[in-house]
Amino acid sequence: MTERSDYQKLRAHLAYLRMGAAAEALPGLLDEAIRTKCSTQAFLEKLLSVEVDAVEERRRVTLERFASLPSPFTLADFDFTAQPSVDEKLVRELGTLRFLEDATNVLFIGPPGVGKTMLAVALGHAAVTAGMRVHYTTAADLAARCHRAALEGRWATTMRFYANPRLLIVDEVGYLPLPQEAAAALFQVVSQRYLKGSVCLTTNLGIASWGRVLGDDQMVAGALLDRLLHRSVVVNIEGDSYRMRSHRARAEATRRAVRNP
Ligand code: ADP
Ligand code: MG
Repeated sequence: MTERSDYQKLRAHLAYLRMGAAAEALPGLLDEAIRTKCSTQAFLEKLLSVEVDAVEERRRVTLERFASLPSPFTLADFDFTAQPSVDEKLVRELGTLRFLEDATNVLFIGPPGVGKTMLAVALGHAAVTAGMRVHYTTAADLAARCHRAALEGRWATTMRFYANPRLLIVDEVGYLPLPQEAAAALFQVVSQRYLKGSVCLTTNLGIASWGRVLGDDQMVAGALLDRLLHRSVVVNIEGDSYRMRSHRARAEATRRAVRNP
């Protein structure tokens, strides 16, 4: 058997096994192996690690795409000094993702602009980086998707879709009142994940006013809260909107500049 035909066979095997990255790296790595007289083991290790890296990168990109996180923020971007009402220790503990192990839910509660979405997204990125399936949706999008699913006879598939990720982020619960049908859909999503997979939910609503916004139905709101809160971490964020704060700081700087040109 010639070296040439061995090489061709090896390429064919790699192609058959869909190891495209390894196939591409093969000639370069072979040259290098001959040049540096590296061992067969070392050569094989290098070749396979090229493929492992490529597979991991593909997985990460797929997870990233599926997660649909609306911004790139991570916990490192969150300025804790700007938001003293946020319990930094608690948030950093959440960042370890231990809460996902026993399907603990996380609720970020607070007025607009205080960083609820940012923190939820940061947890999402941490979970994606750890190789987990995450999906981000707003409550309004979840409601719309469930509504379409009901009309098109895809209810069960859609419920499986929301049951599946290791972490489901439901942003902006309570910004818009949800009609009864939408509140029921959210209830079903939360129920089927109950004790199985974490939900991270953000809301501007104090828990007492959930009934009014969730289909004007105290029963559904109560049952939903039972399941959400039974095993949960609640992060209350008070204080100023971060956007308004930087807006105010800019406005102040402009005023000063105008006064003392
Ligand atoms: P919420 O979801 O509570 O309305 P967001 O998470 O959308 O607020 O935050 C509003 C904006 O302010 C975003 O651009 C966010 O990145 C930024 N922001 C809020 N809080 C902080 C913070 N503590 N550190 C850095 N950026 C922040
Ligand atoms: Mg938000």
